[in-house]
Amino acid sequence: MESFEPVQKDGFLYSSLADEVDIILNLAKLKTHSLTGLTLAVKNLFGLVPGTSKVSYHRDYPVDTQLGEQIYKYFSVLGHKTMNIIDGILALEGDGPSKGTPIELGIVAASSDAVGLDIAVTRMVGLKDTFCLTSKAALDSGYDASHLEVPEANISLLKLPMSKKMHLPAFIKKIAAQQIYVKPRILNETCIKCMLCMKSCPVDAISIVNDYPFVDKKKCIECFCCHEVCESDAIGLDRSWLHKVMVKK
Ligand code: SF4
Ligand code: SF4
Repeated sequence: MESFEPVQKDGFLYSSLADEVDIILNLAKLKTHSLTGLTLAVKNLFGLVPGTSKVSYHRDYPVDTQLGEQIYKYFSVLGHKTMNIIDGILALEGDGPSKGTPIELGIVAASSDAVGLDIAVTRMVGLKDTFCLTSKAALDSGYDASHLEVPEANISLLKLPMSKKMHLPAFIKKIAAQQIYVKPRILNETCIKCMLCMKSCPVDAISIVNDYPFVDKKKCIECFCCHEVCESDAIGLDRSWLHKVMVKK
């Protein structure tokens, strides 16, 4: 079987297979995402980042909006050759991308303009254009959404991730981070000790204590990589008391 080495363009790493093809069919599942708000077409292409180098993005861009900007920049390298399809027939709501709840929406949408597609679908599910942080990055970079005919709505069809129920500007979030947070906690009773969570943590916030992984909440930057990789439903989310006061379930 032919192997395709990673290549780099504009500082972004991707599989050289992407250079060999005329078109990339980018099929994204509509999911809520605890860090970027939603996973749609732009975010889905981030799957071309080879191996474990995704982790370094979380380490280098710990703030959710910064990560959204980087994913959008990554998309910009290859986005011109994509045909994008969003499958929201059965979507995911709540604490996605890995711990949400399935919801039937019956939405399928496609376009060669991934950003426009993402924004249109975001509106269809009743969320603001900027809720998906990759779309926010595109809009901040000058993407003009005025040609989209789907009107903005205000009633969300989706349960939002706990981490996105309260919006704080980045500078306030930095100041208030000690008091307002949603952080992972290992559930030893379901943990199978595979240690995937530990390997996925970009800031080494997970260590082994009494044979089980343990999250150092002071080190944790709330990237939810561990939450995403755990296949045993063994990572719960702890909310700080102030988060509980300010955000009702
Ligand atoms: S990934 Fe999940 S099952 Fe594996 S060690 Fe971590 S918490 Fe346990
Ligand atoms: S403990 Fe989990 S959420 Fe916290 S930084 Fe590590 S991988 Fe991210």
